[in-house]
Amino acid sequence: MTHLECSLTGERADWRVPVNLSPAGRPYLARYDLSPDIMPQSAVAQRPAGLWRYCEVLPPCEPLSLGEGGTPLHHAERLRRNWWIKDEAVNPTASFKARGMAVAVAMARHFGLKRLAVPSAGNAGGALAAYAAAAGLEAFVFMPSDTPLACIVEAQCHGARVELVDGLITDCAALIGERKEAEGWFDMSTLKEPYRLEGKKTMAYELIEQLGRVPDVIVYPTGGGTGLIGMWKAFDEMQALGWIGAERPRMVAVQASGCPPIVRAFEAGERFATEFQNASTSASGLLVPKAVGDFLILDAIRASGGLAMTVSDAEMVWAAREIASKTGVFASPEGGAAYAAARRLHDRSLIGNDELVVLFNTGSGLKYLEALGGQT
Ligand SMILES: *Cc1c(COP(=O)(O)O)cnc(C)c1O
Repeated sequence: MTHLECSLTGERADWRVPVNLSPAGRPYLARYDLSPDIMPQSAVAQRPAGLWRYCEVLPPCEPLSLGEGGTPLHHAERLRRNWWIKDEAVNPTASFKARGMAVAVAMARHFGLKRLAVPSAGNAGGALAAYAAAAGLEAFVFMPSDTPLACIVEAQCHGARVELVDGLITDCAALIGERKEAEGWFDMSTLKEPYRLEGKKTMAYELIEQLGRVPDVIVYPTGGGTGLIGMWKAFDEMQALGWIGAERPRMVAVQASGCPPIVRAFEAGERFATEFQNASTSASGLLVPKAVGDFLILDAIRASGGLAMTVSDAEMVWAAREIASKTGVFASPEGGAAYAAARRLHDRSLIGNDELVVLFNTGSGLKYLEALGGQT
């Protein structure tokens, strides 16, 4: 790793001190000096499973691990012949948020930070709480009061100080912003520190190792966009490392029809998204009315030839149950959203019959019993 770079202006920053947003108010991206001899795929193949096997493209720090990464890629033949499910539900704390927090908390510990705060509408709170517990650090989690019970209880049991807020995740984030200086909290909000992205990008490295090629389409349930932005960054890194060529998957960002700021901006041809008012969806990972990395999501989708689209809560719950009953993967509503979107794109011939499609199940259905159990 050589430096941090503002994702909007390219302004550089030193990575050896903890940072949040750049002076432009945008995310910093970690940059590395990459060439094909730095991390040969054949060498990585010999290493233990899990995200720390990609250590050359992660920040240099003592690894912190609860066994995150190395998740299965299931051939979901009963959904469609060439469709696959990357099952992130089997991560520690039952979602892909574990990947981001493993790296971000490891770096927080490296910097000697002690009190870590995060706003969360679902899985980020539990993941921060668990990794903070493993590292012996304090966690402060701000959640909307209608967050799924499993997510609240999980964060509490891992010893986090949990505050329930009558509002949305943006209100939780604002509270942290107001109080962090007085409380000595470090803000671990997604994309407001550089390393959750680095953890999440490892999903793309795993995909390339597992498939042996770049898929035609990736369908990704998108809230803050960290997973999608991280994977898009990882493809460029893998090209520099000689793992892949210039080919890229079409990136499809799926949002809930009750909270679609990125889809609105995509359809309007805009690079930045305006905050979506009165947001609501039972897919709590998608309940993000305003994303600080909006332009990074939109740039990636457009550069890839992909698109952004919505599905309704009823569709995603139906689709999650369809995944569960046809593949054995107990998908979250967010995973259901990816499948529902892919079906619609296939119906409209925007996904071809022979194309290799990867659907992300970002979390476990076990966290969403209220939403998934409602309709039988
Ligand atoms: C956080 C979350 C998402 C959205 O992830 P981003 O990468 O921030 O867009 C999707 N699904 C689940 C289950 C989540 O917890």
